Amino acid sequence: MLLTGNYEHLPLSNGDIAPVRVRVDGRSKQISLKVDRVGGLVTLTAPTAAKLPEARRFMSKRTRWIAERRAEAQKMIPFTPGSVIPFLGNMHTIVHDADANDLVRIKEGQILVGGVRSSISRLIIRFLKSEALRRLTLSTNKYANLSGKKVQRISVRDAKTRWGSCSADGRLSFSWRLVMAPENVLDYVAAHEVAHLAHMNHSDQYWAHLAEIFPDFKVAEIWLKKNGPSLRCYG
Ligand SMILES: [Zn+2]
Repeated sequence: MLLTGNYEHLPLSNGDIAPVRVRVDGRSKQISLKVDRVGGLVTLTAPTAAKLPEARRFMSKRTRWIAERRAEAQKMIPFTPGSVIPFLGNMHTIVHDADANDLVRIKEGQILVGGVRSSISRLIIRFLKSEALRRLTLSTNKYANLSGKKVQRISVRDAKTRWGSCSADGRLSFSWRLVMAPENVLDYVAAHEVAHLAHMNHSDQYWAHLAEIFPDFKVAEIWLKKNGPSLRCYG
């Protein structure tokens, strides 16, 4: 599953998929292509809607240039206004809504954050962690029911290498960054750890059990292998 939302997706020669913001701007005289120096977001601008097919052809001939610019772009994308970050697999722009109180809201491709500007990053991390815990708890309970297993405790943390882990006594722990991945990927990691309650290994029996409670696990696993590392670039 690819990142969706108000962004198009451009496969690059190096195997990456670049999110592209496509816009029509009557004030611009010609087609233009830009790669942000922070985050590497690609913006394609056409002067009229009629020029969009030509603009896309223009862009598709420059995928190597885009890949090079993106490689040079700063790796970390901070949780600050203007940054574009994924939430449940959809790209969202962080917008500071100074009139609102210090809550975080998701609205039409935006993550709206109130309060003072200096606390935005902290508020977004708090929001993402609590959303991750809420969704992973629902998901874990669903697969635990299917599996006939009991979960003792679910927690989220920012593990550097693992998306989830499971202890023999039924305590499951997940990376809160999974809330940035598409929902089926978050569900997959929950099901993956639940299946370890039945088999504490990656034996054939383990995979067979996982397939019973989460048949589509291959698609999610491929997504995570390919796109998972990019989720660690935010914040
Ligand atoms: Zn495992």
